[in-house]
Amino acid sequence: MRLILLGPPGAGKGTQAQRLVDKHGIVQLSTGDMLRAAVAAGTPVGLKAKSIMEAGQLVPDEVVVAIIADRIDQPDARKGFVLDGFPRTVPQAEALDKLLAERGLKLDGVIELKVDEGILLKRIETRVAEMTARGEKVRADDNPEVLKGRLAAYRTQTAPLAGYYDAKGALKGVDGMAPVDAVTAAIDGILKPSGSTATAAGRGA
Ligand code: AMP
Repeated sequence: MRLILLGPPGAGKGTQAQRLVDKHGIVQLSTGDMLRAAVAAGTPVGLKAKSIMEAGQLVPDEVVVAIIADRIDQPDARKGFVLDGFPRTVPQAEALDKLLAERGLKLDGVIELKVDEGILLKRIETRVAEMTARGEKVRADDNPEVLKGRLAAYRTQTAPLAGYYDAKGALKGVDGMAPVDAVTAAIDGILKPSGSTATAAGRGA
């Protein structure tokens, strides 16, 4: 099974991706996690990405495409994968199409977590404030100012991907503001062989 989870920062892609991993025995490929690991390890990619990530902007397409091209060839990705945070631009989506075609692979679907940005921002601000109060480590790019930039990057550069995949008939929308278990159930409904979307909020919902 090969899936893409689409949705702005804080929409719950990571949580749902982890549940898909547990259920389907596939791997979660998060370019954000891979880039953070590269930054922590001080690799050339990490050195390039660090300041861009801290500013809430997007790392150049060729950098993330190279990371993903390498990652999907690893043996553990053979059973399938859920892409979390990639692609994030139309050129990345086109590069992914090419990578998959070259390997004779197909996507099973693109699931968009639809959220209300205003509520999302408040939710993340509250979460960050609570984590800070508990003395927990907060991601450098999880502060409200950078987050606004990340949401803006999503709106201008990533949101057009919904149209890109919808035109291919691959896009399914779920209500990302619903409780976590309800979102999981909606995704399960989409992935059932019958293609039942009874619990999913369709596009435009
Ligand atoms: P995330 O954990 O997915 O929110 O990603 C954190 C940061 O990593 C983003 O704000 C970007 O700076 C960078 N990043 C992650 N994935 C991508 C991608 N596909 N394209 C460009 N930049 C990315």
